[in-house]
Amino acid sequence: MRLLRYEHEGQVGIGARVDKGVVATGYNDLIDLIEDGQSGIAAAARAVADTEPFTPDRVLAPLVPRKLMFHSINFASIVDETPGTSIPSISSFFSKLPSAVIGPDDPIRKPAPDTHLDWEVELAIVVGRRSSALTEADALRAVFGYTVANDISARDIQIERGDIMLGKGLDTFCPLGPEVVLTDEIPDPHELVLATYVNGERVQQESTANQIFSVERILATVSAHVTLEPGDIVTTGTPAGLGLNMSPPRWLQPGDEVTVEVDRIGSLTNRVEAGWRPDAHDGRDTGA
Ligand code: MG
Repeated sequence: MRLLRYEHEGQVGIGARVDKGVVATGYNDLIDLIEDGQSGIAAAARAVADTEPFTPDRVLAPLVPRKLMFHSINFASIVDETPGTSIPSISSFFSKLPSAVIGPDDPIRKPAPDTHLDWEVELAIVVGRRSSALTEADALRAVFGYTVANDISARDIQIERGDIMLGKGLDTFCPLGPEVVLTDEIPDPHELVLATYVNGERVQQESTANQIFSVERILATVSAHVTLEPGDIVTTGTPAGLGLNMSPPRWLQPGDEVTVEVDRIGSLTNRVEAGWRPDAHDGRDTGA
């Protein structure tokens, strides 16, 4: 089953994707459906069987999670192309701000003309139940489903200024969606090809088979430290092909269209727009 959040005739709802469109599940927040466990999934399944499909006016990000834990290096290919990095022996994470989440077709706002704006396709795990101290053997049972994330990054803020939270957490820096694919359709998340296209040109492509740390291992590590809650997002890292590592570096510009895609889940396209005003504070002085 595939679930999404839509806006239709002024109402926001959670729908299930069917051949001829979308059916309403009766929920308007995906976290509520996830928290209802099997009865939430059963309600969605009944809607698929009984309800007339429609085409929603707009598809939104599937949810705004309470927290988003993004994985750092998890592919050897990114180590190969990034000077000064090495293969990690344990997973590490940073948090992206929930206020950064946008949906398909929403614009990514470039904060200043010279921002080093970059892309990162990632598989996003959607947590299905409150979990701590998961074992690797239990970990997949805590997964509700999977979606696609674009870990948009301002490399100047992230690297030169050393501020990961601002460099990755700015408004619009977390395109998410378009659909959450439940584990019935993806029992094994280690055979999914990730890809990114900028203005139609492929810049990233690699399978999750090449991850250094498995989904099970990632969830065991993060849940040893943090209690995961329904709807939380944990990602599995990005492969090679970053603008940062091109020669010369390639930064996203207003008007560019960036698509991140995970096969069997879907693709998420966002256009970059200028997010600055001529009179705005440029955000680059260090303040006090
Ligand atoms: Mg990333």
